[in-house]
Amino acid sequence: MKKFDRNWEESVIVKNSKIHGKGIFAGSVIPEDELVMVIRGEVISGKECERREEEDNNVYIFWNGRYYIDTVNTDKIKYINHDCNPNCYVDDRDKESLNLISLREIIKGEEITMDYGYEEIYENCSCHTCTAK
Ligand SMILES: [Zn+2]
Repeated sequence: MKKFDRNWEESVIVKNSKIHGKGIFAGSVIPEDELVMVIRGEVISGKECERREEEDNNVYIFWNGRYYIDTVNTDKIKYINHDCNPNCYVDDRDKESLNLISLREIIKGEEITMDYGYEEIYENCSCHTCTAK
């Protein structure tokens, strides 16, 4: 796994988004292929994930291939919005966290996005890429 010298989390700010509700934005230029931030949260089971999604409408759960990470109580990463042409992707880190990595240079003030990767999102998608078409 790639090692990163720095973490840009301090440069990530939460603001209102044109995509949906709040979003996270780059407070400074973030170069390509850098660690934007570490995704941490409460590690839960698949069964508990299902329950929280269905009963609590919790849409803030990430999956690292082994564990489900509930980010509802975090102050930044839970606000990341979907884009079909995102500027970040999620990669493995360890069993309790994930890395958010930049796919290209992100300019100051640009919204930080990822591809949520589940089917329902692509129908009636209102991301920057789809609304620009
Ligand atoms: Zn879209």
